[in-house]
Amino acid sequence: MNRKLELMKPSASMALMARAKEMQKTDPGVIGLAGGEPDFPTPARITEAAIRSLREGNTHYTVGPGIPELRAAIAKKLREENSVVCDEDCILITPGGKNAIYLAVHAVLNEGDEAVILDPSWVSYEPIVLSAGGVPVRVKLDYREDYRLSRELLEQAVTGKTRLLIINYPNNPTGRILHADEADMLERFLLEHPEICLLSDEVYEKIVYGESSVSMGSRRAVADRVITVNGFSKCAAMTGWRMGWLACSPELFRGVFKLYQHSVTCMSGFLQAGAAEAFSCGEEMEEMRAVYEQRRDLFCGILDSIPGVRCPRPEGAFYAWAFFDVRGMSSDEMCEYLMERARVVGMPGTAYGEENTACMRFSFANATDELETAANRIRDAILQLQE
Ligand code: PLP
Repeated sequence: MNRKLELMKPSASMALMARAKEMQKTDPGVIGLAGGEPDFPTPARITEAAIRSLREGNTHYTVGPGIPELRAAIAKKLREENSVVCDEDCILITPGGKNAIYLAVHAVLNEGDEAVILDPSWVSYEPIVLSAGGVPVRVKLDYREDYRLSRELLEQAVTGKTRLLIINYPNNPTGRILHADEADMLERFLLEHPEICLLSDEVYEKIVYGESSVSMGSRRAVADRVITVNGFSKCAAMTGWRMGWLACSPELFRGVFKLYQHSVTCMSGFLQAGAAEAFSCGEEMEEMRAVYEQRRDLFCGILDSIPGVRCPRPEGAFYAWAFFDVRGMSSDEMCEYLMERARVVGMPGTAYGEENTACMRFSFANATDELETAANRIRDAILQLQE
């Protein structure tokens, strides 16, 4: 077997989602909040467009990086909504945002090159870097500073071998967005390190509860080294469609596309026809966002009222990131305890590289009544510990 695979851990979120399913076989009342899956159906117009295309016989290979109408719609969206100027020829349609990240990382890194990952971070960046023969360098952002980016921490992590920095805003798991002052700092950092590319994972872009997150591709001085990744899974409730995309410079695109041709080949024409319709579903996406906001307020509100628990409302994405100061219990212990006592499955903070404090991530992309039950059960379970 390839030795790199031995370095790679299996996905912790998939393991806990599977555990919740297993528990539900004997106890249907178990509530799984470990995954990151919208409970809404895909907007009907998107599904109808895909069915129409399927009926029209679009069931063969499509040629190239994606159908022109979808790539043009993405280029327009990037220009108008993100101030990112990108030629539609440099947009690649991929099987999910995850594959876009995989292709980009493989296209940038050589064996032994270092990639900086900012913790807490999504579970797949490190394995993807390892699969490319890269060396993940994990920078711990500080929970006491609300996980603000710091130039000092970045500089400490950089060596002569650093070639990639991966950022993700709105962030999974913390829900933080990229603020303009942090984007300014990142721009200056990249200007002083011309050998470093930036991968900006923006898959939760539309799920924000105040201001929008800055897209680093909008910073012209460094834009040729920024790879923007996005997709339809989270914002358009299309997780099962496996539709994502990336946008980058012509030079990077040539590399990424070669890898794509020899692995993905192309994306299905009828799925792309459906996804193109997502750009006229602004209203449907806004409705989902508004419901997430209500759920955020409800779920975080209950958790935050529990003695020993702090659950700030996230600025974006659909995760509650809760801190526990309860009888010295660690993240892993709290996760196990809540699974057993509250019958609620969440994710321990350690899965995201947060080892300095006890915390957990709970998805609030579940039905509102289920979230309320889960939050109340968590409250009761924690209060029991404090009796
Ligand atoms: N990036 C982040 C931060 C995620 O949380 C996820 C999914 O959980 C992805 C990328 C990949 O999403 P998809 O491949 O479904 O587009």
